[in-house]
Amino acid sequence: MSDCIFCKIANGEIPSATIFENEDVRVILDIAPAAKGHAIMLVKKHVANIFELDKETAGKIFAVVPKVAAAIKEVTGCDGMNILQNNGPAAGQTVFHLHIHFIPRFENDTVNVKWATGGYADGEAAELAKKIADKIK
Ligand code: 5GP
Ligand code: ZN
Repeated sequence: MSDCIFCKIANGEIPSATIFENEDVRVILDIAPAAKGHAIMLVKKHVANIFELDKETAGKIFAVVPKVAAAIKEVTGCDGMNILQNNGPAAGQTVFHLHIHFIPRFENDTVNVKWATGGYADGEAAELAKKIADKIK
């Protein structure tokens, strides 16, 4: 995608603070971090979101996640980490090229990834679970 900023960064056309690179991904520091050390893993192949991601690439990119997370934790000294990924505007995605966030977390920090909780009527969870399960091949 010629007009995609993350394609340009992932492929090295635009310089970035890179912390890891292999043939499938480039991991960079986020330009507007939730905390110092907040990184994003960009897939080198243009894929807009998780719904477009093929199984083979998924395996390759998720295999890199633990070692990147461990390195960020060691260097930042964070107490915890949120690893998350937004798909579509409704979910907060602003750059439509698949990326995974690594957000270092510290006790009593002000980063907010909490949500209000809901619930299910009697039998509703089982029914919904079955519907979804039937779609997974
Ligand atoms: P999203 O909201 O799509 O999940 O996340 C997009 C992320 O990309 C944001 O956290 C934003 O700060 C980051 N970002 C957007 N443009 C750039 C850029 O040009 N360079 C870097 N390093 N990060 C960017
Ligand atoms: Zn792209």
